Amino acid sequence: MADSTDKTLFSRIADGEIPADILHRDDHCLVIKDIAPQAPTHLLVIPIKPIPRLVDASAEDRELLGHLLLVAGDIARQAGCDEAFRLVINNGAGAGQTVFHLHLHILGNAKFNEASLLG
Ligand code: AMP
Repeated sequence: MADSTDKTLFSRIADGEIPADILHRDDHCLVIKDIAPQAPTHLLVIPIKPIPRLVDASAEDRELLGHLLLVAGDIARQAGCDEAFRLVINNGAGAGQTVFHLHLHILGNAKFNEASLLG
């Protein structure tokens, strides 16, 4: 059996071993507040299944990935930022991924640089 130290940070949050501000939970994912927000609204949509990176997902994850997007839209609406938010997935350390358990960043209620995805 896997030791709890083998679990990802987000699996430990999903299992209640590490506290987090949980805004939504269903059978397939949870949504938490990011601990170090980079926008007035900064939420993380996290699948329960610990897929390390987006590129590690496969065809069997098709429905799950669709679900994550639908939840992201619903939560953005609830957070009052459905008119202007960004969804970010960092894939790989070179792109800034620090937690190797797939997650979608919802960034909202922020002043975006409309001309740039990077800044
Ligand atoms: P990434 O850099 O794309 O892997 O994103 C990981 C995110 O997880 C960062 O924005 C962190 O601030 C966030 N994070 C790390 N630890 C926690 C935690 N215990 N609770 C909530 N968010 C966290």
